[in-house]
Amino acid sequence: MASERIESASFWHDTLEPGDDLAPRPPLAGDADVDVAIVGAGFTGLWTAHSLLRADPSIRVTIFERETAGFGASGRNGGWCVGDFGGPVSAVERKGGPGSVDAMFREMYRSVDDVGSVVAAAGIDCGFHKGGALYVATNSGQMRRVRHHYQGLLRYGQDDAWQLLDASAAKDKVNMAGIRGALFTPHAAALHPARLARGLAREVERLGGVIYEGTRIKHIEKRKLAAEGGTVRADVIVRATEAYTSTIDCQEREVLALGNYMIATEPIDDAMWEEIGLADRELFELSAILLGYGQRTSDGRIAWGGLGAPTWWKGRIPQTPMRNVEMEHRLRRALGEMFPPLKEIGVSHHWGGVLGVPRDLLPGVGYDRELGFAWGGGYTGQGVAAANAAGRTLADLIRGEESELTSLPWVGHRSKKWEPEPLQWMGVHAVTAGARVVDEAERAVAGLRGRA
Ligand SMILES: Cc1cc2nc3c(=O)[nH]c(=O)nc-3n(C[C@H](O)[C@H](O)[C@H](O)COP(=O)(O)OP(=O)(O)OC[C@H]3O[C@@H](n4cnc5c(N)ncnc54)[C@H](O)[C@@H]3O)c2cc1C
Repeated sequence: MASERIESASFWHDTLEPGDDLAPRPPLAGDADVDVAIVGAGFTGLWTAHSLLRADPSIRVTIFERETAGFGASGRNGGWCVGDFGGPVSAVERKGGPGSVDAMFREMYRSVDDVGSVVAAAGIDCGFHKGGALYVATNSGQMRRVRHHYQGLLRYGQDDAWQLLDASAAKDKVNMAGIRGALFTPHAAALHPARLARGLAREVERLGGVIYEGTRIKHIEKRKLAAEGGTVRADVIVRATEAYTSTIDCQEREVLALGNYMIATEPIDDAMWEEIGLADRELFELSAILLGYGQRTSDGRIAWGGLGAPTWWKGRIPQTPMRNVEMEHRLRRALGEMFPPLKEIGVSHHWGGVLGVPRDLLPGVGYDRELGFAWGGGYTGQGVAAANAAGRTLADLIRGEESELTSLPWVGHRSKKWEPEPLQWMGVHAVTAGARVVDEAERAVAGLRGRA
C-alpha cells in the first residue's frame, strides 16, 4: 500500500533546523497551577514568556499550545522582520498624541535589533540578515502610494529611517521589470520564521518555562483556563492567539482571521541572482493595495506571498495544510512579471496561513490587573518585529514595571468587535474585491503603456 504523503504547513516547516522533526511536546494531563499562563506558542506568546523569564527566572511561566510551537502565522509568514507596525499612523497619533507615532516607530526599529541579538546569543540558526526592505512601485498607482507613504513618514519625523529611491537607484538594488521607484528602510531583516519560533520555544524552556503542546484551551475565565486535559489556575492569563482568537468560546468577533498565501521557488542559481539583485537580501514589497511581499531566502530561493486576502464565513479557518490554487497561480504569474528570468522557475512549495485584523486596524497590547487578563496582537500582517515589542511590553506590564514600552500608544488599546455575520463577510469581501479591481486596472494600464 502506498504510504500517505504528509504535507507540511509551509516551506519553512519543511526546512527546520537539523534534528527538529516537529515531534510534539507532551500535552497537559491533569490540573495545573502557574503564575503566568500563556495561550498560544506563536511569536506573541513566546516573546512574552521569554521576556518574563529573562527579567525574573523565578516566575512560573507556562505556555499552552493547541498544535506545536510555531504552527500558526509565526511559523508560516514572509519572514519580514521590519520596523513597522500594522494600522493607520494617524489613528495612532489620535490615540497617543504628539510624538506617539515616532515612539512606536523607534520601538519597532529596536525590536528588529532585539530579535537579532537574541537569535545571535541563543544560537538560533534562522538566517537572520538585516539588509533592509524595499517598497517597490511598478506602475503609477503604486508609485503614488509609495510617495504618499513617504510623505506620511516625513510628517512623523522618520526621514532618517526611510529613503525614497528613484527608478535607477531602486533598480540598482532589485532589477524588477518596469520598476519606477521604491521606498527603502534599513530597519528590516529577512529571517526563517519557523526556525525562529521553534528556536525561541527551546530558549523559553532553557530559561525555565514550560510548554504544553497538543493542548487546546476551550474557554478563558477569570484566572482560570478550561483546557483539554485539565483546569489551569493562574494569576495572569495572556491571550496570544491572534487570528485564532475567534476559535475560543466567547471571543468570536474580537479579531478577523484573514488568509494569506505564499509560494517558494526552487533554489535560484548565482548567475540568475546576479541579474535579479537583492545582493544584501533586501526584503521587497510590491505596493499594490493587496500588496505582495518577498524575500531572498538564506538558501537562495524567493519566498513570495500576498496579493489577496480571503476570509471565511464566521471566521472559520481552513484545515492545515492550507492551499488555494487561484492564489498560487496569481503569485506565480506576478513573480514572472516582476522577474522575467524567473518565468519558468519551479515552485517547490505553496501554503497559506491566517493573520489577525482588529476592527479598527490598530494592534494592541494590554493587561487588566483586576481580571488578571493580558492580550497582544492584531498586527494585520506586520507581526514579526511587533510581537517582540508586544512580548517585552507585556512582561513589563505584568511585572508592574513602568517603562518606555508601557507608555506606548498601543498599550491598553482594545478594538471594538467585528460585526456579526453576514455583515462581516459582506463588508470584508466588498473591500478586498474593490482593491483587486483597482490593482488589476493599474497593472493593465501599465502593461498597455509598456507596449505602446
Ligand atoms: C502568510 C502570512 C505571511 C505573513 N508575513 C508577515 C511578514 O512577512 N512580516 C510580518 O511582520 N508579519 C507577517 N505576517 C503576520 C505575522 O506572522 C503574525 O502577525 C504573527 O506571527 C502573529 O503572531 P502570534 O503569536 O500573535 O499568532 P500566531 O503565530 O498565529 O500564534 C497563535 C498560536 O495560538 C495557537 N492557538 C490558537 N488557538 C488556541 C487555543 N484555543 N488553545 C491553545 N493554543 C491555541 C495556534 O495554534 C498558534 O500557534 C504574516 C502572516 C501570514 C499568515
